[in-house]
Amino acid sequence: MLKKLAFRLTTVGFCLAAAVIFMSTTDHNTTNAADAPAAAPNPLLAKWVGPYGGIPPFDKVKVADFKPALEAAMAENLKEIDAIANNKAAPTFENTYVALERSGDTLNRVQTIFGIWGANLNTAEFQPVQAEMQPKLAAHFDKITQNAALFKRLQAVYNSPAKKRLTKEQQRLVAVVYDGFVHNGAALNADKKPKLADVNQQLASLYTKFNQNLQGEESELNVLIDKESDLAGLPQSLKDAAAEAAKSKGKTGWMIRNTRSSTDPFLTYADNRKLREKVWKMYVSRGDNGDARDNNENIKQILKLRVERARLFGLPTHAHWILQQKMAKTPENAMKLMEGVWPAAVARVHEEVADMQALANKNGDKIKIEPWDYRYYMEKVRKERYDLDENQIKPYLQLDKMREAMMWVAGQLFNFNFKKLNGIPVFNPDMVVYEVTNKITGAPVGLWYFDPYARDGKDSGAWMNQYRNQSRVEGNVTTIVSNNANFVKGKPGEPVLISWDDATTMFHEFGHALHGLSSNVTYPTLSGTNVATDYVEFPSQLLEHWVATPEVLNRFAVHYQTGKPIPKELVDKIKKAATFNQGFATVEYLASALMDMKIHLAGDANIDPRKFEKDELGKLGMPKELVMRHRLPQFRHIFASDDYSAGYYSYLWSDVLKADAYTAFTEAGGPYDQKVATRLRKYVFTVGNTIDPADGFRLFRGRDPKVEALMIERGFPVTK
Ligand SMILES: [Zn+2]
Repeated sequence: MLKKLAFRLTTVGFCLAAAVIFMSTTDHNTTNAADAPAAAPNPLLAKWVGPYGGIPPFDKVKVADFKPALEAAMAENLKEIDAIANNKAAPTFENTYVALERSGDTLNRVQTIFGIWGANLNTAEFQPVQAEMQPKLAAHFDKITQNAALFKRLQAVYNSPAKKRLTKEQQRLVAVVYDGFVHNGAALNADKKPKLADVNQQLASLYTKFNQNLQGEESELNVLIDKESDLAGLPQSLKDAAAEAAKSKGKTGWMIRNTRSSTDPFLTYADNRKLREKVWKMYVSRGDNGDARDNNENIKQILKLRVERARLFGLPTHAHWILQQKMAKTPENAMKLMEGVWPAAVARVHEEVADMQALANKNGDKIKIEPWDYRYYMEKVRKERYDLDENQIKPYLQLDKMREAMMWVAGQLFNFNFKKLNGIPVFNPDMVVYEVTNKITGAPVGLWYFDPYARDGKDSGAWMNQYRNQSRVEGNVTTIVSNNANFVKGKPGEPVLISWDDATTMFHEFGHALHGLSSNVTYPTLSGTNVATDYVEFPSQLLEHWVATPEVLNRFAVHYQTGKPIPKELVDKIKKAATFNQGFATVEYLASALMDMKIHLAGDANIDPRKFEKDELGKLGMPKELVMRHRLPQFRHIFASDDYSAGYYSYLWSDVLKADAYTAFTEAGGPYDQKVATRLRKYVFTVGNTIDPADGFRLFRGRDPKVEALMIERGFPVTK
């Protein structure tokens, strides 16, 4: 997942103001300042200072500073916008589009840190500030989008014959910014604009509420186990992690937290079927417990408001409005791809269930496979069929070593060098920071922050966040990115062992980070990962492939006790089992993606989320032995912001590009082929949004993407 600033409702970046520092004092009551000490400046408003073109002042952030800082930064931003809109000179690319690129620097910095707190440190103190400020930020961006004088100038340049004389990147900036303004309502009739702003503010409040409910359930609900015998089947490392989790909450015994990193391994290994059911139910019921944190009513309201907004644009549904700005272009194109893959995936699930049932029968277990059995028996089938056990792999996958592995791959494919830094301010002591430079030229590339562990107030899952975009419009600005995950800490001093899936996820998020770090563009709006969501997952998913390369495994997949590299027989077994369980993985994902599109294509039908989910899954022929990867009441991607709404299909769309792109490497001789790597950097990783993604892919691959590689990768039959 790529985490954007959740409150940025507009996709237009308002970045990088000129060097205007607006120092706000929060002390409005000091009338006679003659003898009074000067009020301390709000540290959030100050320019980022220190090395690397300035770094985020995480050590100085106080929650109480957010509100005054955001208010001051919004006021400053509006002044900048007014100056651009009311410029006496005739509108030009320079005095309108570039001026806009230079504006909003302070707000961008404050918002970035505000967003980081929202996703990582969402405490009881922070929550009311977030609830208050999100709608205000939504209103702020609508004020800019709806500034008629500004839009008139943007339009004048957009329609001017002089546009043809601009460089390709400049013309692209004009198109992207102009389309963004139109998409967000700049061209609407005056009578519709206040309605749009009102809808956006209501949505911002609901998104915040949705996410806070979910965070509450993930932080506070858990399953506490007091008998060690109930942990039978679990490897020692998981028992230790569960004991640490209990200890961190002041409890004795073993705790299974309400997060995927905690529940998935338990469901895979725990022999106690009753407890598996309990843990499974806790996790899939997040946001759906009929209590104060239940998200069903929020979803109903979000859906209604989204339809209302689409109607303002004369569009039938929210899905149509969202897809305007995607590579897929229409909901029909996205549906066609998903529906094309679905039957093969469901057929494979039926085979997988039959295999598991046969094994359970053979073992005399006297059960019928239920959703809380899937991971458990799947693991047993894997062991029987491929003589492969996740527990054999795990001792070779140390979190620290996998981090080194990613950096080594970045050196091979991107010429990046990583050096650990000390003394850089972080918002949690577990966070580490690396300087990234070009291995050949030594030129600075940026900074990479890594925050690996789960804690209360942090979103579950894993993501990348862009703290600062690369650009050259105001000097040479380098990228700052983070990767965040939810690994469970092991015993102090012992390495954290992770699963194969976790290692793959790490490479995925690191792929987003490399996309941001590779950026080589002029304008921040077009920088790095500022591309459509159905394209942005392509670079990240592509990186996943390098985990399994022998070059990585031999160097970094070393046993945590013996230091010996993972044996070749084990690697061969992993490869042989590569398409194992693809039925489960594809169906649990696709069910969520189809539901996302269907619920947003339903128009203004009065939707009861629980009933809708049940009915539509029935119509789809969803196998009853598994559940959607994200049930609606916990579907953060689509209800905690607009970003992946009617857009969860993006992962499959990007996967088609990814699978096809990887074959470019294998056809050329291997994953480290330098010619293909150079093309990949040139046309995909460095260009940001300066070219149309379809053109970028074509330049890299020499043709349009084909879906066959994806079907082969997942072990599904290829039909012409
Ligand atoms: Zn992603």
